[in-house]
Amino acid sequence: MTKGAPDRDYDDADVHVRPPQRKAAGVPGVVHGLRDVVDQAGVRRGVKTLRLLNQHSGFDCPGCAWPEPGKPHLAEFCENGAKAVAEETTVRRVDAEFFATHPIGQLATKSDYWLGQQGRLATPMFRDTDADHYEPITWDSALDVIADELAAMDSPGQAAFYTSGRTSNEAAFLYQLFARKLGTNNLPDCSNMCHESSGAALSETIGIGKGSVTLADITDHAELIVVVGQNPGTNHPRMLTALEEAKRRGARIVAINPLPETGLRTFKNPQTVRGVVGKGTQLADLFLPIRVGGDLAFFQAVNRTLVGADERTGDILDHAFINQFTSGFDDAAAAWQELDHDEVTAATGLTSRQIDAFVDEVVRADSTIVCWAMGLTQHKQSVATIREIVNFLLLRGNIGRPGAGACPVRGHSNVQGDRTMGIWEKMPDAFLDRLGEEFGFEPPRAHGYDTVDTIRAMLDGRIRVFMAVGGNFAAATPDSERTADALRSLPLTVHVSTKLNRSHVVPGRRSLILPCLGRTERDVQAGGEQIVTVEDSMSMVHASRGTLPPASEQLRSEVSIISGLARRVLGADDSTPWEEFAAGYGSIRERISRVVPGFDDFERRVDEPGGFALPHPPRDERRFDTVDGRAQFTANDLEVIQVPRGRLILQTIRSHDQFNTTIYGLDDRYRGVRGGRRVVFVNSDDLSELGIDDGASVDLVSEYADEERRAPSFRVVAYPTARGCAAAYYPETNPLVPLDHTAEVSNTPASKSVIVRLEPATHP
Ligand code: SF4
Repeated sequence: MTKGAPDRDYDDADVHVRPPQRKAAGVPGVVHGLRDVVDQAGVRRGVKTLRLLNQHSGFDCPGCAWPEPGKPHLAEFCENGAKAVAEETTVRRVDAEFFATHPIGQLATKSDYWLGQQGRLATPMFRDTDADHYEPITWDSALDVIADELAAMDSPGQAAFYTSGRTSNEAAFLYQLFARKLGTNNLPDCSNMCHESSGAALSETIGIGKGSVTLADITDHAELIVVVGQNPGTNHPRMLTALEEAKRRGARIVAINPLPETGLRTFKNPQTVRGVVGKGTQLADLFLPIRVGGDLAFFQAVNRTLVGADERTGDILDHAFINQFTSGFDDAAAAWQELDHDEVTAATGLTSRQIDAFVDEVVRADSTIVCWAMGLTQHKQSVATIREIVNFLLLRGNIGRPGAGACPVRGHSNVQGDRTMGIWEKMPDAFLDRLGEEFGFEPPRAHGYDTVDTIRAMLDGRIRVFMAVGGNFAAATPDSERTADALRSLPLTVHVSTKLNRSHVVPGRRSLILPCLGRTERDVQAGGEQIVTVEDSMSMVHASRGTLPPASEQLRSEVSIISGLARRVLGADDSTPWEEFAAGYGSIRERISRVVPGFDDFERRVDEPGGFALPHPPRDERRFDTVDGRAQFTANDLEVIQVPRGRLILQTIRSHDQFNTTIYGLDDRYRGVRGGRRVVFVNSDDLSELGIDDGASVDLVSEYADEERRAPSFRVVAYPTARGCAAAYYPETNPLVPLDHTAEVSNTPASKSVIVRLEPATHP
């Protein structure tokens, strides 16, 4: 273990459970965040860095993609933002000596928490063919290894280039350019596993795959804010500040979730007196404990009720908007008439009274915003569900006016920006045309592999080289054992990373770990100090500039690594000025401004405090770039999830001490869990029916198409989940999610609805 890191790995036998917390954040949130910063970075270094977090002259949080207000608070960060900074500014180092004393096989037995706590990667490391140790390697030799393996491929389609949402716009633009100049669209990214369903549904129905609201729509205008399938208290904590501002202005909030998440109940804003010594702010006015996967049926029932009420009064729907801006209303209305009441009840687990209470909130509000996250996007019918939410918004003209709209909240700081830069296996021809024109080549047109298809292609030998910029592919993906087999079968895996993680210890036969700069660190190139840019959930593009000295002199920036590799692979004759790009990122932004719509005058505008908003035709001018230039009502078929007797629907979730697959700590304070992670939350009435005791040790066994997958030894926690629904943390439960269990249309892993049974633990 590295100096300062926890000496022993944790033991889930130590886990203990208390009643869930009723209030989020507050002074405890500050204490927990600062404790990690001081523990990892030290007081002086830590505080110096936190002062610049999410500030105009500072760096963008490497956590989620919640936007900054026009005037950031002095402390414009949350507990989990502080933890993300602690992890990046840690003084712990994973260097050549560490790898010399830790064989890969031994590291593979460690928990994700232990691996992540070891610190920042300090030097390029190489695993030679089937070796059990990583050895130090020079950057030159490392790029040669990759170039040689790519040159040995029969076709460019045998490589896949993965991106995590931490990658900056500049690096993402060069990465997709490099892959396409090589000849492939194999550009899987973490968005494939998170908001791909949102992008697919919104692109079809309103003509753009992004949310249509601004921060001010929430804080200053919305009368009703619906938070569905999202746990902002843990995954987008500064959203609570915006919700509190809305509440204080008189807005109403409805939370729809199988779990009564603390962050949706009461928020104690540590930047206010009432948040420090007072009782805080109650957020949700109405909480609906919906059954997992019940959201499609819910919004169909709501939409039918709204249409029915309008038939009686004529003043519920926005007929002017529907007539002028939409198409497909009649088909959608006809489909709602077919809805079966019992099916709705079975699917939602809610009563008509609960649905009517929601409709009352809707009818009372002139402007409504719907916010959502993974609780909606990782199901078989996620795309249909989000289409139905758009139906809901269109019925009352809740698009393209203040306080109204769709708000998919992104979970990773630049995941939306990466997609805007061209990181997608199926970019539209218009983008590829402009890219080809700008760089004088014909980009490949055949769609590439998304994340799930990449794993399938690895398993049947169609991929030889897998490269990832950021992320933790082995832990973030479904069907963990199959994914691990897929990665291990490859001649070469390459990971550009800041910290040690699971993917490094599930290597290809040859593997490289290339340590890169973090957001908090100064990025100095031949052309001087560089800034990078990111795009948040609300399409705001802004600059990020690090100030700390790099964790190691051997680190390189993402841009420098990609440019160096591209020149090595594409050769001296390639006309692309990779060296110019690496020397000064302004030259990259100049190209972006000519290839990507909305980035004109990029260099000047990104310097403005807070950056600039990208165009969003539905939001800005109620213009819909759809099949017929109108917003689309859709008719969606409902498939109620059938759960055999004695089974539950499991959703995979994060603990409060977690960001994606990064495990900051072993507590889930809000849900009352301490000191461990292998727990499964189940409703106590379900436990009685199943004859299982609270605190029992069980194996989770998923059932899918005659296949079974087992995840051993989870402690049962009686918890007020919706009936028939269970919840447990990923990545521990990703082995239960079948690779083929994906969402229709978006192919996103359906990690939020897996049929499981609980069996007495084989190894208690
Ligand atoms: S809300 Fe998200 S972006 Fe903001 S500080 Fe917290 S983790 Fe970072």
